[in-house]
Amino acid sequence: MDKISVIVPCYNEEESLPLFYKEINKVINKMKEVSFELIFIDDGSKDKTLNIVKGFSKDDSNIRYISFSRNFGKEAAIYAGLEYCTGDYITLLDVDLQDPPKLIEKMYKIITTEDVDIVALKTDAHKEYGIVRRFFTNCYYKLISKLSKVEMVPGARDFRLMKRQVVNAVLELKEYNRYSKGIFSFVGFKTKWLTYEVPKRVAGNSKWSFFKLFTYAIDAIIGYSTVPLTIAVFVGVLFCLIALIAIIFIVIRTLIFGDPVAGWPSLVCIMFFLSGIQLFCTGISGAYISKTYTEVKGRPIYIVRETEKK
Ligand code: UDP
Ligand code: MG
Repeated sequence: MDKISVIVPCYNEEESLPLFYKEINKVINKMKEVSFELIFIDDGSKDKTLNIVKGFSKDDSNIRYISFSRNFGKEAAIYAGLEYCTGDYITLLDVDLQDPPKLIEKMYKIITTEDVDIVALKTDAHKEYGIVRRFFTNCYYKLISKLSKVEMVPGARDFRLMKRQVVNAVLELKEYNRYSKGIFSFVGFKTKWLTYEVPKRVAGNSKWSFFKLFTYAIDAIIGYSTVPLTIAVFVGVLFCLIALIAIIFIVIRTLIFGDPVAGWPSLVCIMFFLSGIQLFCTGISGAYISKTYTEVKGRPIYIVRETEKK
């Protein structure tokens, strides 16, 4: 009998958890041909999330949980779950029912009958998002597909069902700065994409603010592309050339027409402009150095406070 591991990161999800548990149990009861293992990762929640999970696990032997010592972020929670799971097939989903558990049955059917290693979900339109967020999301995917060699599928969710082999490959990538979409596309394997409409969150609030998403996007670009560094070099060379032409022009003009009134306002503008460019380029290098710095420290991706084994 195949075993499916369901990995569920939870951060302050006391409201969504009972609803999720009800839904996933419907799926478990329906799919009699497989066994299930539910792994809840409590990502340092400050509400009753952990107590609720413990309550579930009292009379349900399918349930396992890991509780972090503090909030390490969803990426860390996913990694912990993947390390911890024992199933032949592994699925990742959000607790807020934006990734409907009932799709697992369909995904399992596809992965066992067709020649694919991953069945992944993507969405066409984010109804939940406003125009501004949709606009930035579109720009972002266009930008990253130009900058990076790994393919990032627009609208891809983290919701997916994978074979054990894929999970083992993902676990080989032990980097500290984790970006799942990039990691999954880096490891490759045959992926079948299904499209669905993402429903609204059942309860609670999204933990992503615009600022958090923005830094996440920058992290992804830095993690999967070194093009910004090349841009810095290119801009540097371009401005050297412009400066050279300007010098030649000024020298010749002075030789022919003498030295008219010095234009210090324009000089100040140029100074501001160039120091801006310089700071920008230093910033780009700094971003890469800081990523290298966090990787070199080799700190653990997450720290466990307790699990169901105590
Ligand atoms: N989550 C987490 N740690 C965090 C933030 C979020 O484990 O620091 C979990 C959260 O509980 C949920 C999933 O990640 O199960 C997705 O979070 P959310 O719904 O806030 O993101 P969105 O769906 O808006 O992208
Ligand atoms: Mg959500």
